[in-house]
Amino acid sequence: MSDRPLGPPDGDVAGILAALAASGTLTELYGREPTGRLDPSLLRRILGEADAHGTQGTVLALLVQLATATPLLAEAADSPATSRLLRAARDGEELLALAATDAASAGSDLAALGTTVDLSDPGGDLVLDGGKRWVTSALTAGHALVLARHRPGRHFTSFTWVLVPLTAPGVTVRPADTELFQGAGLGHVDFHSVRLPREYVLGRPGRGLALFARHMAVERLASAAWAVELCRRVVADTARRLATRTVDGTPLRQSPSVRQRLAGCAVRISALDALWNQSADRIAARYDATAAATLKALSGMTVEHVLTECGHLQGADGFERDGVQRLRAEAAVFGIGGGTTEVVLDTVAERLDQVLGGPTR
Ligand SMILES: Cc1cc2nc3c(=O)[nH]c(=O)nc-3n(C[C@H](O)[C@H](O)[C@H](O)COP(=O)(O)OP(=O)(O)OC[C@H]3O[C@@H](n4cnc5c(N)ncnc54)[C@H](O)[C@@H]3O)c2cc1C
Repeated sequence: MSDRPLGPPDGDVAGILAALAASGTLTELYGREPTGRLDPSLLRRILGEADAHGTQGTVLALLVQLATATPLLAEAADSPATSRLLRAARDGEELLALAATDAASAGSDLAALGTTVDLSDPGGDLVLDGGKRWVTSALTAGHALVLARHRPGRHFTSFTWVLVPLTAPGVTVRPADTELFQGAGLGHVDFHSVRLPREYVLGRPGRGLALFARHMAVERLASAAWAVELCRRVVADTARRLATRTVDGTPLRQSPSVRQRLAGCAVRISALDALWNQSADRIAARYDATAAATLKALSGMTVEHVLTECGHLQGADGFERDGVQRLRAEAAVFGIGGGTTEVVLDTVAERLDQVLGGPTR
């Protein structure tokens, strides 16, 4: 992997994807024929560069596209329409949304989702009804991968992914009512009798949750990589600011209690980084759900601690436009999006012996 810059520093997500494709980085990330697997170190580098130069919203959209939507599509695309879209995503020409969180249920209870896909039409069409909320890139993507149920009940095999053009008749997209996450294209999507050819079903019906679990593991890996980069940047910025602010002639950066608090942040970030390095290959190659849940839990807790400490240490200046307090509000998503800290801790609790036993057992 070369050290050349990966994309334009300040572009929107579509511009960054086009630049990543033009430089060959997307091919390097997925291989020439994407199968659903990716190079975790390269993904981390891309997100790190995006974090250094872009808004949090842009990084979020990039993360969903690169870590989750494109790999899921790569694993499931088996028709001319879905394969065409995969090629467009690989070539940096198509931004995708991934819509799992349902309008009819708590995001933490995926098996209760209410969006339905009717596959019984004798003419071979599918019909989609329901709604999704808090979808990254809903306003900017051309298509969404939508998790729906093809039969009632909570059974693992009742769910199916459908590829939905966001301009199809019956699809309505509304912006999410938030001032946060600029560049993420956050929105809510409603489906009213959306009729599509059967080839828009992604993979075999019933594989929805299995695919979700595999690719959500990689999203958790990616978001932990982003968390490390973001926290490092915030602590370094906070230390710099405190070096120039004095109390009784001494820079605050030299205050013993400030030094310890910054050190406490650095130790937590180092622990997250070490766990990331330890688990990256097993998550990226084997979709290890326990390792991904452990990493996601630590990442949510680390970001919360670091942003709270640094927000406090930056004093009133932290409340400036685009200051650390806004970043802190956005960074709370590390403990919510892609599975709340409580949900991933539930997974860890179920596999406590395995987690305590370490990675080699
Ligand atoms: C910026 C942003 C971007 C997002 N992008 C996407 C996207 O692209 N696609 C998508 O599908 N979704 C997306 N989401 C939605 C996200 O995945 C959900 O918010 C998440 O799954 C939590 O669901 P919820 O918000 O409905 O919270 P709920 O499930 O209603 O949970 C609310 C709170 O209840 C508590 N809780 C939940 N479960 C438990 C439990 N088991 N034990 C104890 N306490 C619990 C937690 O404190 C939790 O925060 C996004 C969200 C945000 C904020």
